[in-house]
Amino acid sequence: MKRRKQAAARKAFNVDMAGQRIERLFGLAERACRDRPDLADRYVDIARRISMRHRVSIPGGLKRHVCKECGGYMAPGVNARVRIDGRNVLITCLRCGGIKRYPYKSESREPTGQPAP
Ligand SMILES: [Zn+2]
Repeated sequence: MKRRKQAAARKAFNVDMAGQRIERLFGLAERACRDRPDLADRYVDIARRISMRHRVSIPGGLKRHVCKECGGYMAPGVNARVRIDGRNVLITCLRCGGIKRYPYKSESREPTGQPAP
């Protein structure tokens, strides 16, 4: 029983640490993206590996900076274009052309709106 408790504590520690590392790596990527886009991509790559290794999700706000096509760091105004299309925000990666969409109107604010498919 003691073993199990230790394992759980270790996992909690790892998950916490993984979250901190992911945030830190994205902070570094943001600073590096203008001068060293290659470094920014590397930071994102490491962050994704950490998230998979510990099965921690990348926070939604940070995930928007990752291109799902090429896996690179997308910085609006640097290597990404942000446009609005109806109810979605489109973020286009200017390196590979991959488009990321996410709704910018929350459904809870629009009770009369159409239900999500
Ligand atoms: Zn891309």
